[in-house]
Amino acid sequence: MGDATLRGLPSVDEVLRTAHAREAVDRHGRQTVTDAVRATLSGLRSAVSGARVMPVNADWIAKEASAALAHTARPNLRAVYNLTGTVLHTNLGRAVLAEEAIAAAVTAMRQTVALEFDLDSGRRGERDNGVRDLLRDLTGAEDATLVNNNAAAVHLVLNTLANRREAIVSRGEMIEIGGAFRLPDIMARAGVRLIEIGTTNRTHLDDYRQALGARTGLVLKVHTSNYRITGFTAAVPTGDLVALLRGHDVPLINDLGSGTLVDLTRFGLRHEPTVAEAVKEGADLVTFSGDKLLGGPQAGFIVGRRELIARINRNPLKRALRIDKIRLAAIEATLRLYRDPDRLAARLPTLRHLSRPKEEVAALAHHLAPAVARVLAPRFAVTVTDCACEIGSGALPGETVPSAGLAIAPTAARGRGRALAALAAALRKLPVPVIGRIAGDALVLDLRTLEDAGGFAANFMALVLPSGDPREAAP
Ligand SMILES: *Cc1c(COP(=O)(O)O)cnc(C)c1O
Repeated sequence: MGDATLRGLPSVDEVLRTAHAREAVDRHGRQTVTDAVRATLSGLRSAVSGARVMPVNADWIAKEASAALAHTARPNLRAVYNLTGTVLHTNLGRAVLAEEAIAAAVTAMRQTVALEFDLDSGRRGERDNGVRDLLRDLTGAEDATLVNNNAAAVHLVLNTLANRREAIVSRGEMIEIGGAFRLPDIMARAGVRLIEIGTTNRTHLDDYRQALGARTGLVLKVHTSNYRITGFTAAVPTGDLVALLRGHDVPLINDLGSGTLVDLTRFGLRHEPTVAEAVKEGADLVTFSGDKLLGGPQAGFIVGRRELIARINRNPLKRALRIDKIRLAAIEATLRLYRDPDRLAARLPTLRHLSRPKEEVAALAHHLAPAVARVLAPRFAVTVTDCACEIGSGALPGETVPSAGLAIAPTAARGRGRALAALAAALRKLPVPVIGRIAGDALVLDLRTLEDAGGFAANFMALVLPSGDPREAAP
């Protein structure tokens, strides 16, 4: 390494005295900036070869260091455009909250709130009381409670009602949900012995009858939320199970998964079992998620018979799985919106996105296509395309909503796969990353969930495509 080059590097103090560095100190603090300057200098030392003299001065190094800092100072949990064609994308945070829910959450964060305090009596209150009545009203259930998510709800129900006992489940409903939620594992951890009955495609009432015994703690029905079994199939209607269990002291649990509180057909979607229907059919407890079709924050709801809910609330695990005040505020505000179903689709983003007419999405695609095409020409061509949007998160499996979007295809015949991967990577590097989906020879941006067209277009202008030579492509 050439001594002359190393001697040419400014000292840390020199760099810190530059205007750039002083600005960075104001923003990030002295220690952080000092560390970044040291890292930049040490990077230069190892990069400098004896043969090359680096044209660096203190100002240049300060700029490099603040650019690196600006990069690392970005939040990891950044906003992204979900244009994947899956409205409730688990990896992208599922439901987007209603403004009413956001405002309630902000209040709960900024101020002290009557969380476990009864304002009428001035005594200690129950954390869940604010949403309990709403849930009872909206589902017709005798009572309700809630925990962190639906996986926790199922676990808590199993552990409370069937610890060291047996739970009967049809083989056709033995689900795995992404992220390591496997029913048999949850059962084992809840201390429950799983009794599988029937076959993958057919389970009959007699299978349930034969499995019932002195050790049965509960019968669990699971909404097969992320797949559908078709063809030669048989499942037992809830009504028949209710009749079978009458006289046995065995509760029937229905894990609805997504569940919904309204009839989705009024929004032009296929019918998905509502929680109220499951309660009415006779399930003793029904469990469902807060951030799937319901459109609220992550939560797991348990509604049903009063005596069972009381037992669940007495389980010490309930305390470990309880919801925090911020989400509780957002949940209450979200549930209140359901009191006015006529305005629900306008206020609840999940339903607004799902019920948006396809023509409106297509018009948006036509509106945006020229600007997007200008940024991508000449290496990519942009066309407006029909898409089929999925609901996601295991709601309405197999059901898609007609949608529209932009299909972006490489113009060169060779190296298409690599070009698409590079494009997808460049979109992820935008100030607000854009997440699409590669379908065949194109990268498709499904616009069903896009609401701020102006913001999207301005953001897209910042796109930097890697050079055409893959060896120079950004990592
Ligand atoms: C999604 C789902 C769960 C898990 O719910 P989370 O809220 O994600 O914890 C459990 N059961 C079914 C049937 C589901 O669809």
